[in-house]
Amino acid sequence: MKRGERVSETHIMVLRYPSQGHINPMLQFSRRLASKGPRVTLVIPTASIYNAQASSINIEIICEGLEKRKEEERTEDYVERFRMVASQSLAELIEKHSRSSHSAKILVYDSFMPWAQDVATRLGLDGAAFFTQSCAVSVIYYLVNQGALNMPLEGEVASMPWMPVLCINDLPSIIDGKSSDTTALSFLLKVKWILFNTYDKLEDEVINWMASQRPIRAIGPTVPSMYLDKMLEDDRDYGLSLFKQNADSCITWLDTKGSGSVVYVSFGSMASQGKEQMEELAWGLRKSNTHFMWVVRESKEKKIPSNFLEETSERGLVVSWCPQLEVLAHKAVGCFLTHCGWNSTLEALSLGVPMIAMPQFLDQTTNARFVEDVWRVGVRVKADEKGIDKKEEIEMCIREIMEGERGNEMKTNAQRWRELAKEAVTEGGSSFKNIEEFVTEILCS
Ligand code: UDP
Repeated sequence: MKRGERVSETHIMVLRYPSQGHINPMLQFSRRLASKGPRVTLVIPTASIYNAQASSINIEIICEGLEKRKEEERTEDYVERFRMVASQSLAELIEKHSRSSHSAKILVYDSFMPWAQDVATRLGLDGAAFFTQSCAVSVIYYLVNQGALNMPLEGEVASMPWMPVLCINDLPSIIDGKSSDTTALSFLLKVKWILFNTYDKLEDEVINWMASQRPIRAIGPTVPSMYLDKMLEDDRDYGLSLFKQNADSCITWLDTKGSGSVVYVSFGSMASQGKEQMEELAWGLRKSNTHFMWVVRESKEKKIPSNFLEETSERGLVVSWCPQLEVLAHKAVGCFLTHCGWNSTLEALSLGVPMIAMPQFLDQTTNARFVEDVWRVGVRVKADEKGIDKKEEIEMCIREIMEGERGNEMKTNAQRWRELAKEAVTEGGSSFKNIEEFVTEILCS
């Protein structure tokens, strides 16, 4: 049998975790895999999905055992309920396929669901863990897990291989001493492949160090092809959304604004700011005197101060969700005020947009440190002693990026990271090769 035939008969299942920040990278990775020839099935739970378009891959729904996740539900509770029901339905799905001519050879699963490795092993499939966070953050968890970094920290700083010295505020919040849940990476010892949504030049030393410990590969950034290498023609957006949006009105509004004149503000799909913080942000935006587009999810709208919308209607647009990639790629956008979720960070780097970092928790704090001090593509808003980012500070950061000399330097740096992202996913680039080698190794395994 020729290689082409063998490839097309190879079936890869990709199991993704049901939150927007996890759907997007795994869907994109599935498309990249499918472009190399194998049959790819994206396995998704029955959460509400808008805009389901994923033409080159098959989609299978498995039961998550509950209706759409409620925003106030604790992540740990949701993950546990999800684990119990989804592992059972995943096993049934794999068994169903093994009775057909499309038996799956490998399960790629989100590292948020380490239990999937056990399901794969039990049913005779190889497993590959997919990380939707940076390699640097994973190295921190890994070192804690190996006992090389003890928590809570003694003193205020942590010094780690190939990383800047990190203060307590820069570490992922899950290990800052408030939580003991640091064992999630023990499953890595039994995994054959470990994939990271990052690219070699972005995190070169960290990736090299991690590669000396475990079999890792950088395959990102998982941004749709038409924004980077332009090789996959119908790959323009993520296509699977958990939120309703009115894309046209956002873009029409941006079309009326001058080049680089708009601050785009978004905190992703999960972060939730208190009323006081929302007010500081609102008044900081107003004081900065720039145009802004602010994503406030429907459930948070009541925290917008009264009068704000009327007072700023000439300069601002508040939307409940937007096509973020299209917005970041729009020439009117001059900077991105972001919570530094990993996808948002990678998207800004891939589209060459400088950032203002307002991280909240999890990996966002570490990403913010890298944005400011390692990649030098943004500034981080300094919180006051109560942890609030005040309006004066927000205004100052906006002015620094939109008007200051340092802003120009960061735009230039952001453009450089964009070029390196393009290079990584284009034929011959590091991520391109890593995906090809991954498919070849699956064929030979
Ligand atoms: N996003 C979007 N529209 C919005 C806000 C966010 O499409 O109005 C997308 C964004 O492009 C990114 C994802 O939602 O791919 C958010 O992921 P991230 O890791 O940045 O944050 P999380 O939601 O996981 O905190």
